[in-house]
Amino acid sequence: MASVQPDFSPTNEKMPVIFVGHGSPMNAVEDNEFSRAWADAGRALPRPQAILVVSAHWQTRGTQVTAMPAPKTIHDFYGFPPELYQQQYPAPGSAELAKRVQEITPAPVAADMGWGLDHGAWSVLLRMFPGADIPVVQLSLDRTQPPAYHYQLGRALRSLRDRGVLVIGSGNMVHNLGIMCWEDRAHDWATEFDATLEKLMLAGDHEAIIDYERWGRSAALSIPTNEHFLPLLYVLGMQEPGEPVSFFAHRVTYCAISMRSVRIG
Ligand code: ZN
Repeated sequence: MASVQPDFSPTNEKMPVIFVGHGSPMNAVEDNEFSRAWADAGRALPRPQAILVVSAHWQTRGTQVTAMPAPKTIHDFYGFPPELYQQQYPAPGSAELAKRVQEITPAPVAADMGWGLDHGAWSVLLRMFPGADIPVVQLSLDRTQPPAYHYQLGRALRSLRDRGVLVIGSGNMVHNLGIMCWEDRAHDWATEFDATLEKLMLAGDHEAIIDYERWGRSAALSIPTNEHFLPLLYVLGMQEPGEPVSFFAHRVTYCAISMRSVRIG
């Protein structure tokens, strides 16, 4: 894959920032309302110089950023059809973007040469940017840190938006595999918490989202572990005051998975 490395010179236009509710890995290969919405959202964006993905599926001790020239496609799931394991997303990496991330974050961020693109990243990118010709870097989730750390790290990275970098958070705002179902409907608490988050995002009340545990039972059931929720905090941290928030997917399915996807800017 030929790659033109980004120069990260300032751009006139501030790049929007995106959160994608990724749901099942099958969205990478199925033509459905969600994969179509992702493709439409990709076409509506200015072409990025590079992409930084914060995925629910890369958790580490300490924050890490991928810095290899050719990140491999990681098939980090089990029991899916062979077609899904054959998918590749051969986008180049970007040591330059990794270095820039390290330079602008106050907390130490280690360069990683071993990860690649997990399905939180590539299942979405395959739909949003099918050409796989834009350099992609992943940022890990430090599982030892509280929600406020992740929000602040997002704030520290927001200048990337002025240099042509698209930041994508990939997770699910409501994600409880333990009490999901194989039907296209929603548990009441899932709908309730999803609606709470919608309202808070539209109001710009980030404190109430970072402190999600205050929402009680619906939050506890929606976020039994927070790795699918935390990528949202990076995205919200990059919002400037008064910037518009819109949703390009917004439905709870499988009883306990919110596919709500957000564009800021
Ligand atoms: Zn996931």
